[in-house]
Amino acid sequence: MDEEQWCLAVPKREAEQRRRRLLEEGLLDRRYKPRPEGDTVLLPVTEEVAGAVRCEFEAVPERAELPRHELVGGIAIMQDDDPEAARRLLASRPSLETVLFPESPVEGEYRTRRFAVLAGAPTTRTRVTEYGLHFDVDLALAYFSARLSTERQRVLEGMGEGERVLDMFAGVGPFAITLARKAGLVIAADLNPDAVHLLVHNIALNHAENVIPVLADAGHLDRLGFEPFDRIIMNLPMAAPQFLATAVGLCRDGGAIHLYALQEKEGEYLPQIRAVTRGAVTERLVRTYSPGKWHAVYDIVVEKEDC
Ligand code: SAM
Repeated sequence: MDEEQWCLAVPKREAEQRRRRLLEEGLLDRRYKPRPEGDTVLLPVTEEVAGAVRCEFEAVPERAELPRHELVGGIAIMQDDDPEAARRLLASRPSLETVLFPESPVEGEYRTRRFAVLAGAPTTRTRVTEYGLHFDVDLALAYFSARLSTERQRVLEGMGEGERVLDMFAGVGPFAITLARKAGLVIAADLNPDAVHLLVHNIALNHAENVIPVLADAGHLDRLGFEPFDRIIMNLPMAAPQFLATAVGLCRDGGAIHLYALQEKEGEYLPQIRAVTRGAVTERLVRTYSPGKWHAVYDIVVEKEDC
């Protein structure tokens, strides 16, 4: 039976991207099935978001409750070691190839996890599509999180054309390759050889010829004779603040640093930032991590003279 519901009418070619974004933001109403109308697709939303209109939808038939999971391309990462639930999850989506269970937390210098395969193909490798870009990832060999996709777009939107960008902890390249859309040059560094191997592959996959991969410790980047950068990405939440002085040294006066940090209280890293620059700082919540802990980003304008 049809029911009236809030929805967004989006052009067909943007529909999949918008559907994923709404899903990520928790705004897609999964009780109803998106449906085409003319040149648009009507996406049901949970509330009256900007641009929403009322439309009739067919309710999705009730299905057995699926286990909690995070999607990374064709891989689902479950929170419980439950092979029976994993098989149900695998059967629920044709796009799923594998269901994994993390046997360790994110650990070590390379920020990777060990996984057990609960269902499907025995692999930790998959392809993620994010805002029209493709990233081949191997979750056991190199860090990747799809949860920062909105954050990458926010930084891209704030950028000017032709900037010189440095990504100090690039992983398989999601920030570097996203920002390459506007940048003149992106230097993308990581010390995990497997991450840099996938980064090289992803640069080619996305024809991002203005991204230069570098296998290096971030602490050594100031010895390589780079011209000053306009913008620096520091996405190593547990330890990035200790590389702040190096980053400020590599940034031009008036340039920007985006420092990602895991914190327990507002402004926790301001003293470390203030020790290296007096420029303007804006702090934002990126996402919650665990009760009482969250990922924050500090957008820092580098002012050198006053330091
Ligand atoms: N920016 C990527 C992303 O968003 O997917 C990766 C972020 S991951 C949290 C941090 C990365 O920093 C890992 O790939 C790890 O190998 C790398 N890393 C850790 N310590 C490093 C260091 N001292 N120098 C360079 N890279 C480092």
